Amino acid sequence: MGHMTEQADEMAPKTYDVPMSLSPSRVSSFTTCPMQFRFSSIEKLPEPPGVATTRGTIVHRALELLFVRPAAERTPESLQADLAVALDEYRTHPDYVGLRLDETAATKFEKECHSLIERYFEMEDPRQVREIGLELWVEAEVGSLTLRGIIDRLELDEDGELVVTDYKTGRAPSGNYEQKSLAGVHFYSFLCEALFGKRPAKIRLMYLKSGETIETTPTAQSVKFITTRTKAVWSAVERACTTGDFRPRQSKLCDYCSFQKWCPAFGGNPDLAATESVAAYDALLGEPVTSGTP
Ligand code: SF4
Repeated sequence: MGHMTEQADEMAPKTYDVPMSLSPSRVSSFTTCPMQFRFSSIEKLPEPPGVATTRGTIVHRALELLFVRPAAERTPESLQADLAVALDEYRTHPDYVGLRLDETAATKFEKECHSLIERYFEMEDPRQVREIGLELWVEAEVGSLTLRGIIDRLELDEDGELVVTDYKTGRAPSGNYEQKSLAGVHFYSFLCEALFGKRPAKIRLMYLKSGETIETTPTAQSVKFITTRTKAVWSAVERACTTGDFRPRQSKLCDYCSFQKWCPAFGGNPDLAATESVAAYDALLGEPVTSGTP
């Protein structure tokens, strides 16, 4: 997967093996920018960790630990303790070390984690949640592709119906972006139905930053749409892999793109990304950490 095929003619475009399995979010990232998809999902180049992503991972882990506890023990104090465990687990992780936080930034980082978990308790009472799965790996076939993903939490509602819950630690979207975020969760609903033979009654996005919860009910139509759309995107991915034609698509997301330096839309050479991004990542992790890690 993801190996480049050597071309005899140096001028011929590089072609790529078509991946056999991907996460739903990676599939939809192709539509955002095919060039970025090439870098991250086909060539699998390393990206420097981001504060928001690492913070999200740690908070997800703390919530997972909370739900491992018996319902009666799911108190704010327990979640504080679980967050401390999660933070400890990540102190030496490349996603944390690579942030290069100094002492002030590390303190701010921990404070932000704390405010997310405090907000969580304003949104629901975890003692009432009847979870049946946490960080659940699910996969399903769509044509020749295996879609794989992790459901943060699967639970039963008061009628015994399935509910998929996804924690979000970034900002709540507005307008079109709300539909886009829900499209991601519809994927998980689709995976859930493929796995358990039952469509969830509800899918929920919990935005821990703002305290908002967005809910939707998946329908036969929304599931069909996911299948049709995935197949269409997948044909485009296969075409791009066999022709080597991954176009850059500029948007405001370019400001956050780790590969901008190698993007042709910004005057870069995409074929240098493989060696240079690995060297940059190794250098980032190789530097001694002088502060920010206790
Ligand atoms: S900089 Fe923008 S156009 Fe270029 S790869 Fe990244 S997201 Fe795509």
